Amino acid sequence: MAADNRTTGAKGDSPIFSAAQHLAKKIGTVPHGTSRRKFMLAAAGGSLGLAALGPGAARGSAGAAGQGTAEVVIPQRKVPVLAEADVVVCGGGTAGISAACCAARHGAKVVLLERWPSVGGMATNALVNIWHTSDRTKQVICGFVQEAIDRGGPFVRRWGDFPKRPETHDFDSQGMRVVFHKMLKGFGVRTFCNLKAVESIVEGDRIRGVVVDAKTGRKAVLGRIVIDATGDGDVAANAGLPFDLGRPSDGRVQGMTMMFCLRDVDTAAVGHAPPETARKVVQHMRTLRDEGKFPPFNESAAMSYLRSGRNNVPYNMCPAAGNPLDEEELTRLSFEARQAVYAYLDLWRREMPGFARAQVDKMGFSIGVRESRRVRGLKTLEAQMVVKAVKQPDAIGHGFWMIDIHDPKGSGHTTWSDQKAEMMPPVGDSYHIPLGMCLNRKIPNLAVVGRCASSTHEAHASVRLQSHCMVMGQGVGTCAALALDAAVDLAQVDIRKLQTVLRADGVYLKDVPG
Ligand SMILES: Cc1cc2nc3c(=O)[nH]c(=O)nc-3n(C[C@H](O)[C@H](O)[C@H](O)COP(=O)(O)OP(=O)(O)OC[C@H]3O[C@@H](n4cnc5c(N)ncnc54)[C@H](O)[C@@H]3O)c2cc1C
Repeated sequence: MAADNRTTGAKGDSPIFSAAQHLAKKIGTVPHGTSRRKFMLAAAGGSLGLAALGPGAARGSAGAAGQGTAEVVIPQRKVPVLAEADVVVCGGGTAGISAACCAARHGAKVVLLERWPSVGGMATNALVNIWHTSDRTKQVICGFVQEAIDRGGPFVRRWGDFPKRPETHDFDSQGMRVVFHKMLKGFGVRTFCNLKAVESIVEGDRIRGVVVDAKTGRKAVLGRIVIDATGDGDVAANAGLPFDLGRPSDGRVQGMTMMFCLRDVDTAAVGHAPPETARKVVQHMRTLRDEGKFPPFNESAAMSYLRSGRNNVPYNMCPAAGNPLDEEELTRLSFEARQAVYAYLDLWRREMPGFARAQVDKMGFSIGVRESRRVRGLKTLEAQMVVKAVKQPDAIGHGFWMIDIHDPKGSGHTTWSDQKAEMMPPVGDSYHIPLGMCLNRKIPNLAVVGRCASSTHEAHASVRLQSHCMVMGQGVGTCAALALDAAVDLAQVDIRKLQTVLRADGVYLKDVPG
């Protein structure tokens, strides 16, 4: 199980990282491309690395993300330039879409690169479809998030109890694929799907762009500013920025989840079932699981889904734990999770009234990944900043979600289900998301937005929400356009001016310290 293959790199200076740094040092003056490729190979097992080394190397990785014993030297070669822009955004999840649209809105020429066939990241491709905009008394995330809600039209639904809970909207992941793409098009963003950024082109202390893997071979995409919105911090790590991975105690990242939707559940029959039926079914699942005959599951979620018997709603109850940067492990976990979904359904068909004819309607195109690299920034968001609703001078928006940790060992337990007051900001209050968590000390024209921005494991469990990631995207995308206009680096943009522009664009930004 995952216990044996767990993430071994707890920190940027972890064994994996040190090995990579050592390797990079050893390679020394070999041109950037080569040393960085090897760096990535050791740090995260890039696709090139595994392909070049062959299956033996992957088998020998011992859980250290594709870290093999054999090596090959890949000769330096020229690659054609596919595109050039002011701003290159790598990763088309909610953070990247927001960054790209907001940079383009303010006049930047923007290219967005996405490895999957459609944009949206976890929101579309992993069926994660709930947005949170409220501090439980009022909406405090607006701006680009509100634009996405408005543009989503029939695909987005505001909840009846808005704004009493943090969760305020859900959406149809299929429809939002199209909506997001239309938004990018509308803002004039040149969007490439099916292209993976595999290497960062760094000269001195500046990033010039990335090398992408295209059907027709390796190509370069160049930009004056690069924004890493890959969720995993691929571009930043490849450019040599330090990062943290997992919780300090054992290096494990938050659990993942395979989301799935059902159809043909007879909801009326579920409603007529005696109240204790669902409890008995869950008890049976628990017994079988404890005997090792059934996969893990999130107990409270399973109970709630069995009691409501809803069709075409993503079920968030199928946990997996491991290292999302290890392709082989991720493949195994995704496969096991897909099997687990069918195991749940098998049992429910037999034991739960209303489920006899239920079918799996869809599963995530990808397993849902909550956490991987957290790239160290000028500032690091910490748990106390979240729960004490700390305000920051370089605020680009607000966040309020609780410290919501899904068990890194894959039991399915979440701190959300405990609902402890000390794990969340006070009702009616929110913390500031600082620009500094997206900028770094080493490469001034490279920013990181979304779930890979700088935070501790605990604070990440709050700021990873899509609405919060879109706040970062809007702040950094807008900052990039202002930096280009003023011919300064991102960190030198007049923060007051940025905040004024953000407010004019609808961002809720209050109580900024003077
Ligand atoms: C099961 C689950 C349930 C969740 N529940 C909620 C919830 O209810 N509400 C909520 O708001 N949040 C929830 N979250 C968290 C949230 O979905 C994510 O943290 C958020 O989507 C992160 O957004 P992102 O844009 O930073 O990254 P992602 O959504 O991961 O997007 C990153 C994008 O970059 C692309 N990419 C990666 N590497 C490369 C590369 N090298 N080159 C090019 N493209 C690349 C990926 O394909 C992807 O499209 C949940 C997460 C999970 C997994």
